[in-house]
Amino acid sequence: MANHDPNTYTIIFAGGGAAALSLAAQLVQSPLSHLRMLILDPDPKDRNDRTWCFWSTEPVFCESIVSHRWNHLAFVSDGTNLHLDTHPYDYRVIHSIDFYRHTHSILEASGRVHVVQASVESITDAGNEDDMATVIADGVTYRADWVFDSRWVAVAYRGTDPRCHYLQQHFLGWTIRTPDDRFTPDRATLFDLRVPQDGVFRFVYTLPFSTREAMVEYTLFSADLLAPPQYRKALETYLSDQLGITEYEILDEESCVIPMTDESFPRAAGKKIMRIGTRGGRVKASTGYAFLRIQQDSAAIVRSMIERGTPFHNRRPPRRYHTFDAMLLQILFRRGERGKEVFTALFTRNPVSRIFRFLDEVGTVRENLLLMATVPWFLFIRAWFAIRFSKRV
Ligand SMILES: Cc1cc2nc3c(=O)[nH]c(=O)nc-3n(C[C@H](O)[C@H](O)[C@H](O)COP(=O)(O)OP(=O)(O)OC[C@H]3O[C@@H](n4cnc5c(N)ncnc54)[C@H](O)[C@@H]3O)c2cc1C
Repeated sequence: MANHDPNTYTIIFAGGGAAALSLAAQLVQSPLSHLRMLILDPDPKDRNDRTWCFWSTEPVFCESIVSHRWNHLAFVSDGTNLHLDTHPYDYRVIHSIDFYRHTHSILEASGRVHVVQASVESITDAGNEDDMATVIADGVTYRADWVFDSRWVAVAYRGTDPRCHYLQQHFLGWTIRTPDDRFTPDRATLFDLRVPQDGVFRFVYTLPFSTREAMVEYTLFSADLLAPPQYRKALETYLSDQLGITEYEILDEESCVIPMTDESFPRAAGKKIMRIGTRGGRVKASTGYAFLRIQQDSAAIVRSMIERGTPFHNRRPPRRYHTFDAMLLQILFRRGERGKEVFTALFTRNPVSRIFRFLDEVGTVRENLLLMATVPWFLFIRAWFAIRFSKRV
C-alpha cells in the first residue's frame, strides 16, 4: 500500500477529464474514501469545453447538475417529422464546466485527492503484483498501486487493424440566441436529416434551452473530417434554409472528433494500469455516446475494487452488441448515403425505449430481433458477410 513518500499514492489518474473525475469522485464517496489519490492533467478544466447528453430512467451520479431534460424528441427527415415520447427515459444535458466544478469540489472536500496540472510522459507497469507502477509527469516521478490512464486528445483516431472500421463522429455546434421565439423548448431534435448527404451520413442535432436559445450541431459520421469553413457553411445554410433563422447571436461554440470504431481497446495496459474513458473503449462505437457509460464503468470499477481488491473484475456486455455496432459501421463506412434510410426505419418503426435499451446494450435477444427486423435487413446481412470475411474496403 501507499506509504508516506509524498510522491507515492494508492491511485494515480493519468488524465483528469470525464472518466478520471467520475471515478475519483465515486471512490471518495465509497468505502474506499481513505485512499490517497493524484490526478495529473495539463488542462485546468476551468472552461465549458463540451456538452454531455445522455438518456436514463433513473437519477445518475451528478444528477444535481443536470441543467435541462426533455421527455420528447424529434426525428426529422424528408417527408418524416416524428415527435417521440421518450417515456420511461428522459434525455438530459450536463455542461462540462458544471461537472468539472462539481467533481473538483467533491475531491477537494475529501482532503484525499491532489490535482496537479502536469502532462504525463510515461507510465511503467509494476514488475510483479506487489510492486508499484511508475508515472512520470513534467519530469517528476510518482508511484502508485494503481494507475488509471484516460489520456486522450480529441483528434481523428485511426488505428491500424485492417479488420476494423475507423469512423469519426465530428461536429460543429453553436449555442445561438435569436431575437424572437424560434425553438420548442420541450422537444430536442435528435436527428434532422434534411441536409445534403453527399455519400456521408450527416444530420443536425438541436438542444433547445428556451424559445430563443438553442445549441445546434452539424454532425457527420464518416472516416474523414471536413475543412473548418465547411462545418460553418453547413450550419448557416441549415439555420436559414430549414429553420428560417438568419438573425442570431452565437453565444458559444463547440467542435469535436469522437472515435467510432469496432476496434477493441484493451482495458488492462499492465498488471497495475487500467485504461478508462475513451482510451478504455467506453465510447459506444455506433453512436459516439460515452458519458453515461463512463459513469456506469466508474461504479463497476469501485465495486470491483471493494469486492475483489482489483479494478479489473467487470462484466462485459453480450458479444452480439459488438457485431451490431460493426455492421452499422460497415454500412456507414461503405454506404454512408444509406444511413438516412437505416435511421429513418429505426425511429419510425420502434418505440424510443426499445432503441435506447438496444444502444445501452441491455435489451433482450427478443427485443434485439424485433428492432433488427425493422431496419433494411439486406444491408445488415451484406454488412455481416463483409465483416465475417473481412472485406471492409
Ligand atoms: C465536444 C464533445 C461533446 C461530447 N458530447 C457527448 C454527449 O453529448 N454525450 C456523450 O455520451 N458523450 C459525448 N462526448 C464523448 C465523451 O463523453 C467525452 O469525450 C468524454 O469527455 C470522454 O471522457 P474521457 O475522460 O475519456 O476523455 P476526456 O474528458 O477528453 O479526458 C481526457 C483527458 O486527458 C488529458 N490528457 C491528454 N494528454 C494527457 C497527458 N499527456 N497527460 C495528462 N493528461 C492528458 C486531457 O487534457 C483530458 O482532460 C463528447 C465529446 C466531445 C469532445
